[in-house]
Amino acid sequence: MSAPKFIIIGNGPAGLEAAITLKEKAPDARLTIISRDPHESYRPKLLPDYIAGQIDRSALMARPFSWYDQIGARLRVGQTAVRLDLHAREVLLDHHERLAFDGLILAVGGQPRIPEPYWVFRDLMLPLKTMADADQWIDRLKDVDDVLIVGGDLTGFAVVRALLALNKKVRFVFGEEALWPTRPTPEIFRQAADRLIRRGVEVVPGKLRRIVRETDGALAVTTTEAQTSAGLVGAFFGLAPDVAFLAESGLAIERGVLVDEHLYAGFPGVYAAGDCAQVYHPQIRDYWVSIGYENARALGRIAALNLAGGLERVNVAAESIFDDDGIRVNTSWWMEFGS
Ligand SMILES: Cc1cc2nc3c(=O)[nH]c(=O)nc-3n(C[C@H](O)[C@H](O)[C@H](O)COP(=O)(O)OP(=O)(O)OC[C@H]3O[C@@H](n4cnc5c(N)ncnc54)[C@H](O)[C@@H]3O)c2cc1C
Repeated sequence: MSAPKFIIIGNGPAGLEAAITLKEKAPDARLTIISRDPHESYRPKLLPDYIAGQIDRSALMARPFSWYDQIGARLRVGQTAVRLDLHAREVLLDHHERLAFDGLILAVGGQPRIPEPYWVFRDLMLPLKTMADADQWIDRLKDVDDVLIVGGDLTGFAVVRALLALNKKVRFVFGEEALWPTRPTPEIFRQAADRLIRRGVEVVPGKLRRIVRETDGALAVTTTEAQTSAGLVGAFFGLAPDVAFLAESGLAIERGVLVDEHLYAGFPGVYAAGDCAQVYHPQIRDYWVSIGYENARALGRIAALNLAGGLERVNVAAESIFDDDGIRVNTSWWMEFGS
C-alpha cells in the first residue's frame, strides 16, 4: 500500500502542532502543509511585543523553513485553499491546482471580527491578526502619536501595553464590547477600566457610533456618549472562524467547523482543530469554540493523533488565557460570538 497523503490547511499553532504530531505518529505519511501566510509558522501572541519593538521578527518565528525539509513535509506558503471537494477528496487552491488527500486537518484559524453596524467604516480601522497587520501598525505608528482602541477584546489589551511602551497617547472606547469573549462581572469590568486609567489610558464612555476622516487626516470618532479623535483607530472585536471557503463543502458549519469530541468532522479522515473548530461538549450538549494559543496547540495534537488512528478526546478543563496583572478570566470555552 502506498503512503497515505495527509494535508493540513493552516500553519498556525494548531497546524504546526498537528504536523509535529503526524510526523511522530505517522512517519511514513506524505505530509503537505498549506498556508495563506507567505512565511513560516509564527507565534501571533507575540505580535504586540513586535509592534512595541521589544522583539525582532526572528523571535516571532516558531519553526524555520529548514525544519519542514528536515521532517520531510512539504510547506506551501502564500497559497490559499479556496474550496474543498470531499467526494473527490481534493483541496482546490487559489491558483487552480488540486491536491488529493487521504487525511485532512483543517486548522485555518480565525479572522478579525467587525460587527455589522461598523462595516461602513471598517477601512478606517486597523485590526491585528497577521504579521502583515503588525507591519502596518509599525508603519502607521511612525506618523501617529495618539491611538484609539475600539472593541477591546483580549488582544486589544496587549496592544494597549505595546502602545504605552512606545509612549503613545491611548484612548479606549470601554463599553459593552470590551473584554470579548468573556462575560466579565461588573466588578471585573470596573477593575479593568480602573487599571487602564491608572496606566494613563483615557477611557472613552459609550458605544461606537461613527468614524470620519477629517481633512487634516485625523479621525473624528463619535460614541453614544462622547466625541473624540485619533490618528489611528485599532479594531479589536475578537476573532471569528475563517471558514467561508468551506460553505459548499458539505461539512457541517455553524460559526466554525462542527466536530465531535474527537475533532472528527463527519467525513472519513477529515478533522478540524484550533480557532476554526466548533467542538461538541457532552456536558452542555452543545458546541463550543475556544480562541487561544494553548488550546489551538492541544486541539492540533488531538486531531493529528486521531487522523493517525487514535481515539483521543478533547479535554474541556477551564484554562485562563487572560491575566492582566492579576485580573484573571477563564476563557477556555464559550458558545457565542455576538453578532
Ligand atoms: C495579536 C494576537 C495576540 C494573541 N494573544 C494571545 C494570548 O496572549 N494568549 C492566547 O491564548 N491566544 C492569543 N491569541 C490567539 C492565538 O494566537 C490564536 O488562538 C491561535 O493563533 C489560533 O491558532 P490556529 O492555528 O487555530 O489559527 P491561526 O493562528 O489563525 O492560523 C491559521 C493558519 O491558517 C492559514 N489559513 C487560513 N485560511 C487559509 C486558507 N483558506 N488557505 C490556506 N491557509 C489558510 C493562515 O495562513 C495561518 O497559517 C492572540 C492572537 C493574536 C492575533
